[in-house]
Amino acid sequence: MEELYTKVLSDPIFKCIGQAADELQVDAYVIGGFVRDFFLGRGTPKDIDIVAVGSGITLAKKVASKLKGQPRVKVFKNFGTAMLKYQGWEVEFVGARKESYQRDSRKPIVENGTLEDDQNRRDFTINALAIGLNAHIFGELLDPFNGLKDVSAKIIRTPLEPSITYSDDPLRMLRAIRFATQLNFEIELRSLQAISANKDRISIISKERIVDEIHKIVMTPKPSVGFRLLHETDLLHFILPELVALQGIEEIEGQRHKDNFWHTLEVVDNIARATDNLWLRWAALLHDIGKAPTKKFHKKIGWTFHGHEFVGSKMVYKLFKRLRMPLNEKMKFVQKMVLLSSRPIILSENHVTDSAVRRLIFDAGEDIDDLMTLCEADITTKNPKKQRKYLNNFRRVREKIVAVEERDRIRNFQPPISGEEIMHTFNLRPSKEIGIIKDAIKEAILEGEIPNEHDAAHEFMLIKGKELGLKQHI
Ligand code: ATP
Ligand code: MG
Repeated sequence: MEELYTKVLSDPIFKCIGQAADELQVDAYVIGGFVRDFFLGRGTPKDIDIVAVGSGITLAKKVASKLKGQPRVKVFKNFGTAMLKYQGWEVEFVGARKESYQRDSRKPIVENGTLEDDQNRRDFTINALAIGLNAHIFGELLDPFNGLKDVSAKIIRTPLEPSITYSDDPLRMLRAIRFATQLNFEIELRSLQAISANKDRISIISKERIVDEIHKIVMTPKPSVGFRLLHETDLLHFILPELVALQGIEEIEGQRHKDNFWHTLEVVDNIARATDNLWLRWAALLHDIGKAPTKKFHKKIGWTFHGHEFVGSKMVYKLFKRLRMPLNEKMKFVQKMVLLSSRPIILSENHVTDSAVRRLIFDAGEDIDDLMTLCEADITTKNPKKQRKYLNNFRRVREKIVAVEERDRIRNFQPPISGEEIMHTFNLRPSKEIGIIKDAIKEAILEGEIPNEHDAAHEFMLIKGKELGLKQHI
């Protein structure tokens, strides 16, 4: 006799689905993530996956007709699935199916099947747990692969032979690594070996799906777990070769540089503790990618990575494009963070001057706080004394940013003198002199020669105009 898990099913929606299934004389089960997350104590997800031994679409319609307000059923005919939303739930219905795969596609040939067939096609034992909803099996757990045991042992294991599971649908390789990272689980050794052996199969997966999984890894509390696994299985080479290129330490004449791959992973873990901003986390992941192509050894000064921030920010565009990621303001934000990623460090090493802070605020604009968060995450020294020193320096920079910004309002810099005013003052047509004067005013403000105010800037404009040989019109 299977154990009863009616507590999972305390919401009335499950009784309703069970009754609808009884009326249609089909068996229905809740399966997958919902059941897994219940046993993990992860709370109740909003998504419920229902499998019917029969038509999922018919069951969905029957359920909808019994619910208050009769929610609309969205049917995906090609997939044989249906979905409805009710009181915050998103319930997806599918008929139990048997799948067989061809080599060149992750889209299987599908036929109707039993619950067991359906559980066989699931990716991991922990995702194959099903609980009965019909009156005669309400609350019964069907766990043919000991998924519950794997939940408590924290193991990712495939129901069938791992090499077949991963080769059939290579997306599962990334899902395994993503779940291991999200749930803090181990991937069973045979699975891990099968992933390494099938790594090249990743090429049949769309970029969008790959990026979806990478996003999910990036958003975990400790993304390095996932990136370490991607690296160990060599999948990273296919997805983000720019990161792999950062790995390794070279030594010439007794001089070594740090391993920028492992450093990057530490930075990503650090920033995960400070922010849930996906794109700031991406910026941490990519902040050093320019170091591989710019690395040089100089006899006198040792290892340098001159201009790696600029080169890195250019690489961000190519990387986003290759992975079909959005080429919009999100990408520009990541580029900007990479480009500016060394600026606060340089600043904190020296005496922090007002004008240097003003320039930093001017260049970073609205993103100055995010930039500081990135730079603080970038501190990975194991020397506690140095760590304290760097953090203190950044705290001073942050204080100075607040003080300077309060006084000079550089963050959303608007030139205090418009182009029209310059044209009008000197009776000019659109010409390069206008740009020269505007730029000189901006520079004078950033340098602290004049305050960020109209009258002072007007005064300055008149002097600058005179220098350029312009005549005042009024
Ligand atoms: P989450 O929604 O938290 O990412 P989930 O387990 O619900 O986790 P979904 O992608 O929503 O993941 O999939 C629902 C269920 O469908 C899974 O639990 C699993 O049983 C099955 N599944 C999803 N993708 C695959 C796949 N590529 N191969 C085999 N089974 C899969
Ligand atoms: Mg789900």
